[in-house]
Amino acid sequence: MIKVGVVGIGKIGEDHLNRLQNRVSGVEVVAVCDIVPNKAKEALKRLNLEHIKDYADYKDLVKDSEVELVVCTANNEAHAEIALEALNNGKYVFVEKPLSMTAEECQAIMEAEQKNGKRMVQVGFMRRYDPGYQQLKKYIVEGEIGAPLMMHCRHFNTYLSQPKDYESERAIVETFIHEIEIVHWLLDEEYKNVKVYFPKRADITKEYSKGLQDPQVIVIETESGVNVVTEVFVNAYGYDIHCDIVGELGMAQLPAVPSVTLSKAAKRSTDILTDWKERFIAAYDVEFQDIADRLNSGRELNGPCSWDGYVAAVTADASIKSQKTGETEEIKLMEKPEFYKNFK
Ligand code: NAP
Repeated sequence: MIKVGVVGIGKIGEDHLNRLQNRVSGVEVVAVCDIVPNKAKEALKRLNLEHIKDYADYKDLVKDSEVELVVCTANNEAHAEIALEALNNGKYVFVEKPLSMTAEECQAIMEAEQKNGKRMVQVGFMRRYDPGYQQLKKYIVEGEIGAPLMMHCRHFNTYLSQPKDYESERAIVETFIHEIEIVHWLLDEEYKNVKVYFPKRADITKEYSKGLQDPQVIVIETESGVNVVTEVFVNAYGYDIHCDIVGELGMAQLPAVPSVTLSKAAKRSTDILTDWKERFIAAYDVEFQDIADRLNSGRELNGPCSWDGYVAAVTADASIKSQKTGETEEIKLMEKPEFYKNFK
């Protein structure tokens, strides 16, 4: 039984707390912490989990000798310090995406992890656990569509679902970051450069999110020359995720979420989801079950590692630079440490 401490009991923190305690087997949440007084207490009450220890300072949670795995669901800005504290105390750490806000902080996390001599970090890029993305990966690996040549992704969020201060950079660091990671995993090759285009701006953002250019079109070129075009639209008609891969022999497309076809009033229609939690609910469950099963049986973690978090951070930085310069920006990685070379 793996003993877990959850730091940051906000929207996804409470969700993961519930998931770990009620849906994942082989884990027990023994401690929680949120910087906002009473926030964790209220969540524990809602979930009927008031027996769990509630710390005011995450450092005390990390030092708790019962805690073996720290789940970091605090704000992006706090990820690096929490992950480093966990690693420096010899604890496994699951960090929600993004691993951290800067490439330098990701490097510091990788160094701290390597000092432990084994894989200690998993980043919360849960799409790798979605059956649709897994099938895309299988078709690429088995050569079903031949060598990939170009990709088209769409990451649409529901109209007005993001806060008013959601700016163009956050659309990269919090939204597009999922495509950066999943495409890197699907194609299994490094990126060369990125260019961000600002098409005609949606009227809503001029009033509601003044600092947000919405939509954005982002083009990444990989080392072998695959072109990946992603449309990011934060104020769209619903939560809609697409991924098409065109190869030499065929095309593979991410399946749409199943929905009953309703025929009524001389029209046929299907539902589109509005909430990311519903779209990837099964993937989050499988992600944590995999972590629990591996740690309980002494096997190495196998999901997105800190190197993947670093690649995503460098690519996000180059994308943000391109937003500002309007130019194609190079994606320059450090040399991959030997420690990470065998992780897929
Ligand atoms: P949220 O609702 O704002 O919750 C975060 C909580 O952590 C807040 O209560 C925050 O307090 C607290 N916190 C900040 N620093 C802390 C610290 N040092 N110690 C303890 N608590 C701290 O945010 P959220 O939407 O749940 O997102 C949390 C993280 O999950 C983000 O990194 C986000 O990118 C990620 N996320 C991932 C997915 C996914 O699909 N994988 C989906 C949603 C979110 P304050 O409000 O005072 O800062």
